[in-house]
Amino acid sequence: MPESPVIVVKVGTSTLTTPQGDLDLNFMRALSGQLCQLTREGLGVVLVTSGAIRAGMYQLGLKACRDLPSSQAAAAVGQIRLMRVYGDFCRDQGLNTAQILLSRGDVANRERYLNARNTLRALLAHGVLPIINENDTVTTEEIQFGDNDQLASQVCQLVTADILLFLTDIDGFMMPDVDGKMVLQSDIHEITPAVIAAAGGSVSGFGRGGMTSKVNAARVASRLGCRVVMAKGKPRGGQPPVVAVAHGEPVGTTFWPGDHTLRGRKRWLASSAPVEGTLTVDDGAARALLAGGRSLLAVGVRNVEGDFGPGDLLLVRAADGAEVARGLSNFSAEQVRRIAGLHGHQLAEALGYETGPEVIHLDNLATVDPAGVPLTNGDDA
Ligand code: GLU
Repeated sequence: MPESPVIVVKVGTSTLTTPQGDLDLNFMRALSGQLCQLTREGLGVVLVTSGAIRAGMYQLGLKACRDLPSSQAAAAVGQIRLMRVYGDFCRDQGLNTAQILLSRGDVANRERYLNARNTLRALLAHGVLPIINENDTVTTEEIQFGDNDQLASQVCQLVTADILLFLTDIDGFMMPDVDGKMVLQSDIHEITPAVIAAAGGSVSGFGRGGMTSKVNAARVASRLGCRVVMAKGKPRGGQPPVVAVAHGEPVGTTFWPGDHTLRGRKRWLASSAPVEGTLTVDDGAARALLAGGRSLLAVGVRNVEGDFGPGDLLLVRAADGAEVARGLSNFSAEQVRRIAGLHGHQLAEALGYETGPEVIHLDNLATVDPAGVPLTNGDDA
């Protein structure tokens, strides 16, 4: 059965707050209504929200935050209010919400990345709306995403999103025509140097991100196979265009992934990251992987080389040494050594905890040919 599509909606501070700096409750009610409708339609929906710092400043009566601890304090105050408002509006319509606060460290570390991913997937499976913000109260510059545009593109990877929607205070992405007049673009098929130049360095209102940051985030997300849409969050007299975008209506600017579909994501997986270890598998497992659509199970693993951790990229070789696949390990090298050759029902005893039988899940696996080039007719369907 195909999985339901997943949409990540990112809303910025300028869209979420009034000119005075308080949360715009009318907008948040309308946005929550749209998110609830999509959940009822069976989509996986994730919200990445800004607005905590601004809402906290308003509540504390601060005109500006001059240092990091002040904005972190404002974020701590504002975040709780943000969540209460979303929670109440969604609960009125029968939708449960969950708060997830992430920092860059949570996705840079593979183990934490996998944990966050599993939690998000479990929330979506339970029909809950995860609401994500940066963990502003503890992040310092070194571990900051910096802005929620970057965070949103990472979330797309975590949940294997199909659509990323930026709700902003502008109509979409503008580029100069031959006379230098800025024109709204309905479709961008490639993020060329001209697109990057047109993004300039603009930062809107109180948010940290700007057009350059959105275009960078769009580039990352579209590499992962996501359709990225940039649209006005508060169209005059209308609803935030969340349902419209999910239904494929043309709104704002769409950045198309081109041929960077899920297959492209796997190609990227197969070619970009450093390899940390090698698994040699038996003939049955090698054939199953090459036939496509299968995870690598512990029972097929014959030999383990390297010292890797969960989430590290592994090379998978057939008994004759030919490379069959690459993918992200669910376990450490030491754990794979313990479970190699075991059947699913034997793993809990070997590891001391309940776990699935996949050493590399299909979602994180790319089948390659012996030269290391991903197959194009392989397991990507
Ligand atoms: N995390 C910040 C907040 O909630 C917003 C960051 C951004 O503007 O992108 O206030």
